[in-house]
Amino acid sequence: NGHAVFLQEIDPSKLKITRTSTPSTLPSTTSLPFGIHHSDHMLILSYDPQAGGWSAPEIKPYANISLDPMSSCFQYATSCFEGMKAYLSPTSQPLLFRPKMNMARLASSVSRLSLPPFDTSALLELIKKLVKTEEKWIPRDEQGKALTGYSLYVRPTMLGTKSSLGVGASDKAILYVICSPSGPFFPPVLPSEGKVPGYIKPVKLLAVSEHVRAWPGGTGAHKLALNYSPGFLTQKEAERKGYDQILWLRREGREEVVMEVGAMNFFVALKRDDGDIDIITPPLDGTILPGVTRASILQLIQSDQTLFSSSFSSSTISSTISTSTTTTNPAPKLYAHETPLTMSQLDTYHSQHKILEIFGVGTAAIVAPVGAVSYSSSLSSLSSSSSSNNNNNNNNNNDKEKDKAQTMDPADVQG
Ligand code: PMP
Repeated sequence: NGHAVFLQEIDPSKLKITRTSTPSTLPSTTSLPFGIHHSDHMLILSYDPQAGGWSAPEIKPYANISLDPMSSCFQYATSCFEGMKAYLSPTSQPLLFRPKMNMARLASSVSRLSLPPFDTSALLELIKKLVKTEEKWIPRDEQGKALTGYSLYVRPTMLGTKSSLGVGASDKAILYVICSPSGPFFPPVLPSEGKVPGYIKPVKLLAVSEHVRAWPGGTGAHKLALNYSPGFLTQKEAERKGYDQILWLRREGREEVVMEVGAMNFFVALKRDDGDIDIITPPLDGTILPGVTRASILQLIQSDQTLFSSSFSSSTISSTISTSTTTTNPAPKLYAHETPLTMSQLDTYHSQHKILEIFGVGTAAIVAPVGAVSYSSSLSSLSSSSSSNNNNNNNNNNDKEKDKAQTMDPADVQG
C-alpha cells in the first residue's frame, strides 16, 4: 500500500541471559580434539517478517533446536556458518581474532543464499557477550594463563526456516552461535619422537580434479554448508589411499589450477634467484574462500617486511636479532603474490628445486605444513603444455607412465 515496513534489526540491548543450572567443567586439555566438546551456553535469535523482524536475542543453556521437517535448510541447504576463535590474552582476557572479518563473510554468505540480512556489528556485540559468558571454556594452564595452541572455537550458524517445499528463498531464519573448546589441531610431537619442539607432522595431499570444490560463478567464495558435503566422499577416498587432505584443483583449458587444501587456503614459498622468497597464494577470483588467516598472512608479509628481514625497532628483540644480522647471511625478504598457479607450474618449480615449503592456512589448523603432494594429471596433454623447464621427453611417455602419480615432496628441497 505504498508504506515502508520497518522490521526490527538485531537489538543487543534486548539480550536475555538464562544461565544453566547444571554447568559442566572443561574437559582436560589433553582430550580436546577439534570440534567435539561444546560449552554450556549458546546465543540464539530468529528472523520472521510476520513477527516484525529479528527476535530479542537470547543466551541460554546449550540445547537441541526443534524445526519443521519442511524447513528450507533441510530441503534446499539454506545453511551457512563461520569459524572464529577466542584466545586468552597475556592478562587472561578473552580476545577474538579479527572477528569483523568473520561477520562480513557471514553477511556475504547470507546474502548469497538470499537469507534475511542482519546487522554485523550488533551480532558481534552479542558474540562478545557470549564469549564473556563462556570465558571459563577457553583452556588455560594451572596458573590461569594462556596455553599455546588452545582456544575457544566459535561457530555462528544461520539457517533458512521457511516451512515450504516450494523451491525458493527463505524469508525466515534462525541464527545461533555455539562454542567449542579446542586444543592444537595437530597434537604436539613427543620428545621421544626425536623432533625439535614445535615440530608439526606435515600433511600428505592428494591432488584431485575429478571432483571440483568450486568453479567460476559458483559459491566457493562463501562459507555455505553446501560447499562442504560434496567433498566428504573425495576426502574419505583420499584417506583410504593414505592421504590426509585433498589438494583441490580445477581444470581450466589445458591446465589444472590449484585452489585450496581441504578447508584451508593454499600457500607455496619459492626460492628466488636473488635469495629472497616469493610467497604465492591463489587470488580471490570467486572460487577461493577469502580466509581470515590467508588475509592475515598476506598482510603480515606486505606490511612488515622488517619482521622477516630482521631489523626490528623494538628494543629487546632488536638486540638479539641485530647480533645475527652482522653475520654474512641476512634474512631473506618475503614477497607476497596473489597469483593463479597451475599444477604444471608447480611441477616445474619442483623440478627446479625452488619449492621451499607448501602449507595450508585456516582458523582451525592455523598453518599446516605440507609434506608431499601426489598428483597424476587427468589431462592427457598436460605434459605438452608444461613449461620448457619441465621434462622435455614427457611427450614420449607411454600411458602407463602418464598415469603414474608423481609425488612432490617439498621437504626434499629444504636442504
Ligand atoms: N578455505 C575453506 C574452504 C575453508 O572452509 C576455510 C575455513 N574457514 C578456509 C579456507 C580458511 O579460512 P579462515 O582462515 O577464515 O578460517
